Amino acid sequence: MIMDTIAAISTAVGEGGIAIIRVSGPDAIAGTSSVFRSRIKLNEAESHTIHYGHIVDPKTDEAVEEVLVSVMRGPRSFTAEDVVEINAHGGVIAVKNVLDVILQLDGFRTAEPGEFTKRAFLNGRIDLMQAEAVIDLIRSKSDRAFSVARKQAEGKLSKQIKTLRQTVIELLAHIEVNIDYPEHDVEEMTSAFIRDQCSSAITEMDRLLKTANEGKILREGILTAIVGRPNVGKSSLMNVLSQENKAIVTDIPGTTRDVIEQYVTLNGIPLRLLDTAGIRDTNDVVEKIGVERSRSALEEADLVLFVLNYNEPLHEDDYELLKTVQHRNIIAIINKTDLPRALNIDEVERFVPRDAIVHMSVALDQGLEGLESTITDMFFEGQLESGDLTYVSNARHISLLKRARQSLVDAIEATHMGIPIDVIQIDVRQAWESLGEILGDEAGDSLIDQIFSQFCLGK
Ligand code: GDP
Repeated sequence: MIMDTIAAISTAVGEGGIAIIRVSGPDAIAGTSSVFRSRIKLNEAESHTIHYGHIVDPKTDEAVEEVLVSVMRGPRSFTAEDVVEINAHGGVIAVKNVLDVILQLDGFRTAEPGEFTKRAFLNGRIDLMQAEAVIDLIRSKSDRAFSVARKQAEGKLSKQIKTLRQTVIELLAHIEVNIDYPEHDVEEMTSAFIRDQCSSAITEMDRLLKTANEGKILREGILTAIVGRPNVGKSSLMNVLSQENKAIVTDIPGTTRDVIEQYVTLNGIPLRLLDTAGIRDTNDVVEKIGVERSRSALEEADLVLFVLNYNEPLHEDDYELLKTVQHRNIIAIINKTDLPRALNIDEVERFVPRDAIVHMSVALDQGLEGLESTITDMFFEGQLESGDLTYVSNARHISLLKRARQSLVDAIEATHMGIPIDVIQIDVRQAWESLGEILGDEAGDSLIDQIFSQFCLGK
């Protein structure tokens, strides 16, 4: 496969100490060498070495930037091709000047988003699942999400999918022989073999799928809405949660809804807090639009934190809101326990199970541990700490794994119904293909393009 040479800025654009321009492809080393003035010729440099010099504009023969250039020859590089990384001064202008010179070279062009990782995949250095983990690594906002992504990037999960595929291919081979040489057939034995192999694959798939929900949560965070009447302490709770996490609170970019999201972790549990402060009835047209948006955000939430005031009896509005959210994943937070009790807790228990009621005093910083353990019990099986974090967390993988599982269930059923082996083979083949699609073996070009287009430029 002949590819052109691609280049892009691989560090975040903006002010910084250094910025890196990455170049990959057959002409990466020779091309860069032709515009690099240094004591050593890059194309004679050993692999995995770094060199000081200047990038020179060939038209004017003037140095445009002082740089350090590293050389990594394929296949021992990120893309498995020849790669050059140019370290320039940080800031917008220096990198742009270097990139301009590089892109004028013959056969060079700007890399598309994710194209470096895509090449690593197309060159067979990593499978699709590992490539997707690279996006997750970049995007992860908690230590645990990062660990889940790292296990996947290392290929731990791919290995388990490959083992499953091996089971299925053995089965396919067995069926194939059976179809080709029917005289050898002991039909009943083949049926029994299909059932055995499918069952053991299904058991393994179930084990993986059991981790999926937790994996997805760790990866994406629990979409959490904080609701309650005015003055119960919603903003205070939000503040406490985000202050604990000052370093990692980020606005989530690219959200289409106008509701503000804040990413926080509560002792390692990632929460995406929706600011739904505006939920109440209103007649104002403009405000109504805002309220509508908040309501739909609430509908999407995985978890509703319903805040009540310990110091006040339940209000008519509380009953209203409780009725609308009582069938959701809900935790009632009874706040202001530092004040005298006026709330009838039995009334709250009519709507919320006792073990989902947490007492807090946000003002005195009390009760956060209770909230944390209640959330853990609700979303995770067992202790989070002990898990090895080899989780299926990506929605695409989960749905393909479920599809493969269904195909094997169908195959088992078919054996019971006396359906001919060559028909059953279709189900088994389907399972093989779905598993292959997870790893990218059977993935079409459009799917691959779509996956890599989610990447940032330069990765
Ligand atoms: P929101 O309208 O639900 O967002 O409520 P706020 O967070 O703005 O809080 C309303 C008022 O209650 C503020 O004056 C807070 O300082 C106060 N408040 C919040 N939490 C507590 C608490 O645990 N105890 C007491 N005594 N006051 C609190």
